[in-house]
Amino acid sequence: MADRSKARLVDGFTTLRATQRYAREPRYSSAPDHTEKQEESPTSSPQGRKQGMQIGRTVMPTTYEIVCYSCGFAFVMRGRAKITQCPKCGTRLGLTDETITGAFSEELITAGKVHLTDTAILDGGHITANDVLLDGSVKSGFIHAYKTLEISSSATLPEDLFTARSLRVGIGTKLNLSRTMEVNNVDVLGELQADLNVEGKITIYTGGHFKGKLKAGSLVVEEGGGLSADTIASSDDQPIDDMEEEEERIPPKIPLNLD
Ligand SMILES: [Zn+2]
Repeated sequence: MADRSKARLVDGFTTLRATQRYAREPRYSSAPDHTEKQEESPTSSPQGRKQGMQIGRTVMPTTYEIVCYSCGFAFVMRGRAKITQCPKCGTRLGLTDETITGAFSEELITAGKVHLTDTAILDGGHITANDVLLDGSVKSGFIHAYKTLEISSSATLPEDLFTARSLRVGIGTKLNLSRTMEVNNVDVLGELQADLNVEGKITIYTGGHFKGKLKAGSLVVEEGGGLSADTIASSDDQPIDDMEEEEERIPPKIPLNLD
């Protein structure tokens, strides 16, 4: 089965080249927001650009990875908008970012980011978003992060009240998960005790500590990071293939002139 670990760090150029060469079934991607930095050729400056000049690389606006909350399809959008449409299932996706500062018991769905501040209390509310930053507490309800759930040290989060594609455990955060979780990417800046199956990359930063059981496509432990776990990691697991899996995330109509 071809469902191996997904793309990890891919620069914009590689992504574009892969786009040119391949076309495959759409799928999740675990790449971080690396696409925000596109390489610029010197000819892109207003003064340096001359008519008819051969431009080696196309400069594009900032891109964002969006995951459809209806079908789960991941795609890349260029520029900012308040709404877009999933290219796979056609669902119109709201992209607004929201901040919750008090008690919340409603339903909130966005393909943008939701921030629950340290005064926020999720009490019966259901939050579906691409990214969720949790500083507050979850009493009841549910958080569904299609991309990344970041849990800060002030947060309270019962482990059965969320799902997330990727996790970021903030500095000073202690998170203890008794269930086995499948995730794409994990950043550990605090303390995480869990049984994790990480398809992409887990990074344990300086001062972070992972305990438990770990199976990861790629493992990075910074100096001063702690790891006390049964670990299976295969960091050289098909990096080229992984990069090529990125290709469908760029719309094919981008003008390319790479080689
Ligand atoms: Zn969709």
